[in-house]
Amino acid sequence: MKSIAHWINGKPAEGVSGRHSPVFDPATGIQDKQTPLASVEEVDAAVAAARDAYATWGTLSLAKRSGILFAFRALLDAHRDEIAGLITAEHGKVHSDALGEVARGLEIVDLACGITVQLKGELSTEVASRVDVASIRQPLGVVAGITPFNFPAMVPMWMFPLAIACGNTFVLKPSEKDPSTAVRLAELFAEAGLPDGVLNVVHGDKVAVDRLLEHPDVKAISFVGSTPIARYIHTTASANGKRVQALGGAKNHMLVLPDADLDAAADAAVSAAYGSTGERCMAIAAVVAVGAIGDELVDKIRERAEKIKIGPGNDPASEMGPLITAAHRDKVASYVTGAAAQGSEVVLDGTGHTVEGHENGHWIGLSLLDKVPVTADAYRDEIFGPVLCVLRVDTYDEGVALINSSPFGNGTAIFTRDGGAARRFQLEIEAGMVGVNVPIPVPVGYHSFGGWKDSLFGDHHIYGNDGTHFYTRGKVVTTRWPDPADVPTGVELGFPRNH
Ligand code: NAD
Repeated sequence: MKSIAHWINGKPAEGVSGRHSPVFDPATGIQDKQTPLASVEEVDAAVAAARDAYATWGTLSLAKRSGILFAFRALLDAHRDEIAGLITAEHGKVHSDALGEVARGLEIVDLACGITVQLKGELSTEVASRVDVASIRQPLGVVAGITPFNFPAMVPMWMFPLAIACGNTFVLKPSEKDPSTAVRLAELFAEAGLPDGVLNVVHGDKVAVDRLLEHPDVKAISFVGSTPIARYIHTTASANGKRVQALGGAKNHMLVLPDADLDAAADAAVSAAYGSTGERCMAIAAVVAVGAIGDELVDKIRERAEKIKIGPGNDPASEMGPLITAAHRDKVASYVTGAAAQGSEVVLDGTGHTVEGHENGHWIGLSLLDKVPVTADAYRDEIFGPVLCVLRVDTYDEGVALINSSPFGNGTAIFTRDGGAARRFQLEIEAGMVGVNVPIPVPVGYHSFGGWKDSLFGDHHIYGNDGTHFYTRGKVVTTRWPDPADVPTGVELGFPRNH
């Protein structure tokens, strides 16, 4: 059984806690690897390595830091296919989808390569006689990232490239379900010239996470995962005096107005609901059909969903892979089997689906539920699987009120040909990311990603300018260089005024 080592101080470190977690190939259901679960002492070793590395990394010139980032970018680019293969082997998503995830992670590395521009400070000259004021931003020290299973490359890359470019050192605790990708990214960064200890990877569970949350040398926590854990991370890390951004779960809605191009809307709904087997925080989980178009839209979604080819992620013919674990597959299935009793019409039932030759894989087919009541569990919970709920409303206002009553506020989309309605929607909807005829509005790297309400705790979104801000703290320097000809002002006990 292959064991995935930690990556501490620039080299692999075998787990010594004696605790492990299984890693499966979701397409076969076979456990072919295991990941060590770090003890408090192992986390402390990673933090100590990061603290020691900070002494030189934090003051290294911007030119040298960005040079290493450019070299990392080139290596990532050259290894896209290999990284996508690692993702597919442990997560299960199809190879093309895994390549897309690597590409979106690379966007943040691109951003980090330009750190010289982003970290330019501000200067005001002559704010008072011979007085200048400079605003600068400095790194925090050791920062940590805790990431979910569903994007084992992209989400860590939302964090560590920018944090490290800003001069911090980093401890990453990736998901224990698909841990290999994070280690490979760290190896490539080391190959690019990153000094030992600047990026460390510790595998683990609550023990490792709790140690990071309380460790006095960890100055900030970035978290991405489910809402209950995000809330816990935010509360605990804040109570321990750390800066924290904690991105949580989602239930993303797509509002379809009667004037929309229904073929385009159905294509978008199927792509966004079932892509990555629904295991995306930006997946469309609920389509809200306005007016009389509901039946036609549901027919068009069903026709398309029935054609999706399910199979192993490493088979180029597959469009949708398996779910991450058998337990998760069973939980997803329970929402479909319980749907009719809670008032939904089951248009497609994907439970019980298997793939020939891979009978023990974590398979489930596509499910489509229509006329779902807002009280149904399938609507209220984040299912995180290929189950699309369709809800019916009579008007735009009713649709907006429905979406805004959701406790989540990650992404949302409107499909319409009416620019005025789209404009109103952008302003009225309570979500952090909005798509107009775009079903998965994940912002590009130079804008920031983040939800509202129970989809994000903390006040910084991730990457973009928010990322640079999160990973640095401000300092304002007020300077006077008197001219030899100046007459001394003498003692003045009044509060300093500018004149
Ligand atoms: P998760 O919350 O179970 O795990 C996330 C991380 O927290 C993992 O590293 C895990 O080891 C750790 N963790 C789990 N339980 C813990 C506990 N009790 N105490 C401390 N740490 C704990 O999430 P997941 O199942 O890996 O990922 C799926 C979830 O992530 C979904 O809810 C999805 O919406 C969300 N997600 C959100 C975004 C976003 O940007 N908002 C992006 C991707 C995924």
